[in-house]
Amino acid sequence: MSLFNVYPLYDVTPVSAKDVYVYDDKGVEYLDLYGGHAVISIGHSHPKYVSAISNQVEKLGFYSNAIQNPLQVELADKLETSSGCKDYQLFLCNSGAEANENALKLASFHNGKTKILAFKNSFHGRTSAAVAATDNPKIVAPLNAQQEVDFVELGDLESVEIILKAGKTCAIIIECIQGVGGLDENTTEFYQGLEKLCKQHNTVLIADEVQSGFGRTGDFFAFQKHNITPDIISIAKGMGNGFPVGGILIHPSIKASFGLLGTTFGGNHLACTATLSVLDVIEKENLMQNASDISDYFQEKAKELPQLKSIKGRGLMLGLEFDFPISELRKQLIFKHHIFTGGAKNPNLIRILPPLTIQKKHIDSFFEALKLELEK
Ligand code: PLP
Repeated sequence: MSLFNVYPLYDVTPVSAKDVYVYDDKGVEYLDLYGGHAVISIGHSHPKYVSAISNQVEKLGFYSNAIQNPLQVELADKLETSSGCKDYQLFLCNSGAEANENALKLASFHNGKTKILAFKNSFHGRTSAAVAATDNPKIVAPLNAQQEVDFVELGDLESVEIILKAGKTCAIIIECIQGVGGLDENTTEFYQGLEKLCKQHNTVLIADEVQSGFGRTGDFFAFQKHNITPDIISIAKGMGNGFPVGGILIHPSIKASFGLLGTTFGGNHLACTATLSVLDVIEKENLMQNASDISDYFQEKAKELPQLKSIKGRGLMLGLEFDFPISELRKQLIFKHHIFTGGAKNPNLIRILPPLTIQKKHIDSFFEALKLELEK
């Protein structure tokens, strides 16, 4: 059987990894500044994470959600403390797309409306709100034709108001820092304006923290900088450090009832164990503080590059924008300097999403390599 060929692949075959390094089948060491799309939060193969998952799988890897699972309760408590999101309720699933699908479905159940409002250049996974992170019409089209999506320019509160006034929009979904779309972020006034409009028009505000959450920005969630209280927060990626797990945090104003949401694998014992150990390591190793400190260092170093047009993002969710396409540069970084970076919808932008354990010496290596390539 052949693989369904949907991914253009780089010719590198990773076989093992440790902290910020990945090793290929020929023993070559790569510095990982991308973490497989912001998935690796506490570093590859962190010893505490490996032993927690190994111990759990020996005991019990999975049992059904119809039977009590104390690990889910422990995770909900720990997540409340780590995130500071008081009194939210936790529903666990398996990925970012699934988290957003559940969030959108729940919003629609909650207020009886069906339309979705999302922002241009946002990306919410291959969902009903699958959007403009690509110009490929197959991906832009909502998967569920019944759930119509309005796309609005980021920052345009007037258009948002006109759409919400029509009374059909169940939810606004937003990434407070756009990931795949290219790291744009708007003003606090805009995010607070959205929150106010949602309240006025009985619309659910969903913060998609799938990429920006779990400490990556130096805050636990990116929306926290703007002092808003989303009705639903979707999480995945860094949450499991590579173990497939996602979830939504649901504000107490939205009530649960039996059968409202459901999943076979979501919140299984291994997924809970992986996430609990991620939270534990983030706390014990002070990784949110590290994200802020290393971000400051990175941004200072970036200023030394005369070729740089702008630096975007915050924490360890960063973008370097040039005035030329960066695909060749990324290839040189991988194949000559053995450094993984990411691309974005904007062809001139390099995305940097390293493990939160990264240190200054790694940033130095990156800038040395980048300078050599830019000066050629
Ligand atoms: N939301 C955001 C902000 C994302 O960046 C992504 C993936 O890149 C998703 C949702 C979808 O997550 P997943 O690929 O786990 O379905």
